Amino acid sequence: MNDKFKEFLNQEQYDIVKARSPINLIFAGAGTGKTRTLLYKIYYLLIEDQPEFHNFFITTFTNKAAGELRERISQQLNEKVYFPWLGTFHSLCSRILRKYASHLGFSETFTIYDEDDSVRLLKRIIPKDKHKEDKPERILKKISVFKENYHETGEVIDSDIEKYYRTYEKELRNSDAMDFSDLLEKTIVLFEKEPVILNEFTRSIKYVFVDEFQDTNLAQLRILKLLWKGLLFNDNSPMLFVVGDENQSIYGFRNAKVENILNFPDYFKGSKIFTLKKNYRSTAQILDVAAHLAFDNPYKTGKLEPADPHRGGERVRYAILKNDRAEAEYIVDRVQNVNAEGVDFSDIAVFFRTNFQVRILETYFRDHGIPYVVVGAQKFYERKEIRDIIAYIKLVLNDKDTVNLNRVINIPRRGLGKKTVDNFNAEISRRELPFSAAAEELLAENAFSARQAQGIRSLMDVLKEIREMISSPSEALMRLVEMLDYFDYLKEFDDEGYEDRIDNVNYLIREIQHLEDEGFETLHEIMEILTLSSSVDSWKQEKGAVNLMTLHLSKGLEFDTVFITGVEQGILPHSNSQHPEQFKEEQRLLYVGITRGKNRVFLTRAKERFRFGEFVKNSESEFIQMIPREQMRYEDKTYSKRWTTESLFRGKGEVKKSRPSTPLPKEITYVPDLSPATGNPFKKGIKVRHPDYGVGMVISSHVAGSRIKVDVRFYKYGKKVMIGEFLEIVG
Ligand code: ATP
Ligand code: MG
Repeated sequence: MNDKFKEFLNQEQYDIVKARSPINLIFAGAGTGKTRTLLYKIYYLLIEDQPEFHNFFITTFTNKAAGELRERISQQLNEKVYFPWLGTFHSLCSRILRKYASHLGFSETFTIYDEDDSVRLLKRIIPKDKHKEDKPERILKKISVFKENYHETGEVIDSDIEKYYRTYEKELRNSDAMDFSDLLEKTIVLFEKEPVILNEFTRSIKYVFVDEFQDTNLAQLRILKLLWKGLLFNDNSPMLFVVGDENQSIYGFRNAKVENILNFPDYFKGSKIFTLKKNYRSTAQILDVAAHLAFDNPYKTGKLEPADPHRGGERVRYAILKNDRAEAEYIVDRVQNVNAEGVDFSDIAVFFRTNFQVRILETYFRDHGIPYVVVGAQKFYERKEIRDIIAYIKLVLNDKDTVNLNRVINIPRRGLGKKTVDNFNAEISRRELPFSAAAEELLAENAFSARQAQGIRSLMDVLKEIREMISSPSEALMRLVEMLDYFDYLKEFDDEGYEDRIDNVNYLIREIQHLEDEGFETLHEIMEILTLSSSVDSWKQEKGAVNLMTLHLSKGLEFDTVFITGVEQGILPHSNSQHPEQFKEEQRLLYVGITRGKNRVFLTRAKERFRFGEFVKNSESEFIQMIPREQMRYEDKTYSKRWTTESLFRGKGEVKKSRPSTPLPKEITYVPDLSPATGNPFKKGIKVRHPDYGVGMVISSHVAGSRIKVDVRFYKYGKKVMIGEFLEIVG
């Protein structure tokens, strides 16, 4: 054994890396080095067994985590490594399916329908007058749950949605499309229906790794079982290495099953179970608090110990604020303090349970000139202009894609009324032809008016030309935008916001250029990445920007300082979590959040919060009651003068409105210029102007690091602390 591993691992981790047992489960708490051990295990096998990269099948929770793993192994080996079977379950299954699609009656270039596409399809299937009682989103959820479960549970589809389900499946097939659940479900079908393929596929695989196993669903469990079956058949002394922590199972709402990890030894007989106890991430004080939220588990792993018992630390703080504004102000203040103590902004994270909480944080971060990045909350790919362009690309790549055809058929306007479009859809379906072929036939039959025919032809021309450019993706996109006069269309569509929308489209083109630079050559490859990337995938931890994200996205990450906002009844636990299982998941969510912190954790509660258009009073979170009072530093700021800011929309109507924040396309939403200040021109008494708050007078100012903080009394908005760069001196 190469003993340099000892340098990087403790004894337990080292033993796991060295173990040659075929089936391994590492069941251990947060920050104990599970991911690190998994990485070194791969590295160790690469050195020890000298396998090929394609002998590994490695699944991670996000594509970003996969990229990091690849990067770290490349560093260790001092060469760029490429694992063809490394990624999320969904992206790996999609790769498998493209290879064997014809066996399932799909083409290898099948389209992947994301949630929005699937909902659109269901909207067409469910009669309009039923949309209220059979909400397409809810029906989709039911269909997905069924598809992901039935192989393991043997359940049958609910009779009240069966009809929709059948039509939905038929339409997907006609459109040569698979939805997200299909990627898993069809892989199962493929492997079960054709054991020869399973055996062929697993012939070259020897090692299977799964990180974050606690958040796998039943379909993923089934795939794992099938892969293992194939591996045993091929008998290459295979190895299964699964890593997870029950207490961090937080995706039950998306059908993940914590039982997968709890019952692992039943599913994989003869498994060896390892555990790790030493936590390398957090201080003892943080671990003490987290321990009260952890559940007992069948493997009796017990409480986490800090790896370094002599490491100093401070108690977790629990701050109670009068309202959401005071909460945001408190966070901003503490962020500034922590930063002043030398912690880079990028090593600070603010987590929240629900997306609506981010708005007020953004306002305060901006006002105080603190750079921040909202991870995932921007939903860039859900914007209309981005979806339009993506729909066009999907249609270019797949002429049978009826969902995206319907989306773009009148973008820009082509004079095709609803009735014409409906008839057209019916004809496509009746003739069982792709769009262009059906259109050709109908044109030849003179089925359209002259104006409609012209509209259809113009769409066909666009698709035809772009189809010839699929090997130069960014050029194809630019040409598409040009042919559609898309920017003119946007101006017509949204006179006020069109500039932002144009920026977004240009940003998408830049992203695609970036992917081309990374070696992705065709629109097919690029579309695959765009469709399967999750909200954290495109996030790059920027130097100098605080990270704002939901608790769900914080999984697997770590930061020096962590804030968890809205730790109050109704938000955490969330008001929708009445069911005991849901309540447990909320508890685990808080556990995940707290265990992201290395040195400092702040929990905050606003007694009153503006929500659903009114003020809601929230009582203390049940989770706070689980933590002994003396283990946290309570800071009741409810009566402090400093934190008594009135709430945003106090009173009857809107009294005071903070400036509307126009989100930028990319994730970095705000980065002030932090260039060193030369001198301090903000003398007491001079007049300054701020783009949103107007004119005010400087009360005082001081240089703080590379910036100047200025206390200003604005004539209209009262006193505020501002960063100098945002103020113009007017007298
Ligand atoms: P999570 O449950 O949050 O996914 P994890 O168990 O996967 O956590 P890692 O992320 O692998 O834990 O490790 C947590 C931190 O501890 C990382 O910064 C890692 O580098 C560090 N760490 C783990 N093991 C050791 C070790 N033996 N020596 C030094 N640092 C370690
Ligand atoms: Mg991990």
